[in-house]
Parts: sequence; C-alpha cells; structure tokens
Amino acid sequence: MKIVRYQTNGDAPKHGWMLDDKIGEIQGNIFGEYRRREAKTPLAEVKLAAPCLPSKILCVGRNYVEHAKELGNEVPKVPLIFMKPPSSIIANGENIILPPQSKQVEHEAELVVVIGKRGRNVTPETAKEYIFGYTIGNDITARDLQKSDGQWTRAKGFDTFCSFGPWIDTEFDASDAVVTCRVNGQMRQMASTRDMVFNVSTLIAYISSVMTLEPGDIIFTGTPAGVGELKNGDVVDIEIEGLGKLSNPVKI
Ligand code: ZN
Repeated sequence: MKIVRYQTNGDAPKHGWMLDDKIGEIQGNIFGEYRRREAKTPLAEVKLAAPCLPSKILCVGRNYVEHAKELGNEVPKVPLIFMKPPSSIIANGENIILPPQSKQVEHEAELVVVIGKRGRNVTPETAKEYIFGYTIGNDITARDLQKSDGQWTRAKGFDTFCSFGPWIDTEFDASDAVVTCRVNGQMRQMASTRDMVFNVSTLIAYISSVMTLEPGDIIFTGTPAGVGELKNGDVVDIEIEGLGKLSNPVKI
C-alpha cells in the first residue's frame, strides 16, 4: 500500500492511501488501528505533504564504498550515524533554499526506511518487523560547512535540507533497487541498494542499540557516489526503481 499525507483546499494535512492516481482518506493511526475510505480524490487535486512526521531523522554516512572514496574517506567499521532536525523537512515539489552561509550545497539521493513500531535493542534477525515501509530521500548537505565544522549538524540541518516522499510504500522490496539522481535531467548518481556497506537490518539493529526508535522515525540509508553541487534554478529528481520519484526545485 502507498501511504501519503495530503491537503485539500488548504486544510490541515491528513493521511491517505493511494490506488493508481486516486487518494482515499485514512482515519485513525497509520501505525496502529485505522480504516481506509474509498480512494476517489484525484492525486492532481491535492497537495502532498511529507508522508509522515518523524520524531527523529537518522542518517548514515559513507554507506556506499564508491561514495566514501570520492570524498577521500575510508569506509567506516561500524555505521556512522548522524541526525537532521525535523524543521529541515520539505515535501515533494517544495523548494530547496540555498543558505547564504554555504557556497557548496549538494544533493544526496537515498533510500529511506520508515519505522513502524517502537524498538530498542532490535536484532538484525527481527529488524524487518520494525519496518513500516520505504520512501525516497534527498539528504541535502552544505559540503563546505561539513568539512570546516567537523560536526555535521549545521551542514545537514538547514531548513529545507531534508526532502522525502512523495509516499511511503509498505510493500516495497528494497534489497536490490536502483537509486538515481538527476539534476536538470542529467544523471549524477546511480547505484543499487545492494551496494550498501551496512544493510537496512544491520542499521536498525545498530541505531536501536543507541536510541529507541519510534513509529514514524525515518532512516536515510546513505548515498551512492556522484554527489554534486546544486545551483539556483536547478531541479533535482531522485528516483528509486519501483518506488517513485522525488522532485525539488532549488532556489536562493
Ligand atoms: Zn546522506
């Protein structure tokens, strides 16, 4: 099932499910008890919001060998995790705003895992039970500030630096999916999720050994090689085969 959050006529966003190009309201808690109304509102008539409201946005650095190499880094021995603030979230179609503090803002195309139930000290063997579904993400990064600060909070945390969506697919098989990033139609990144250093189950186990994962929390699973600069007026499209496309314009 594809899950969205959507607005009609400027109302507060609500959860819905998608059947072909029609949306039906979901009443209740998407992570618990809910009922689905008939899917009859055309997708073209709604504004999609980010598909869930995470309490935590976890990210994994250097999780593809070729990407670690292109920035001159070693592949870590254990997952390298960091966080982005929920205030950085934007939806599909919303503008990425280039901040004046940076001269080098870059895209990072990523598979994103959505957590479906509370978990602490989850084992890799049981990790799949905690996955609600998958979505597409852009871990936008001020590369110059990432290098100069050492800590990544500022470089990764600007408003509009976390795009994910347009929906969550609860049935998606993420084991071998092609992730691509195009800027103004030109291919920048392409790799399979099969090439991750640490797979999704390992990441969930590792992160939940540190902090409790809550329903709606999301994990950006790292970006393949080919990260590159975004300029005012660019359009960045991230696609995951079989999952969908996330598109954002870039503005100053
Ligand atoms: Zn990233």
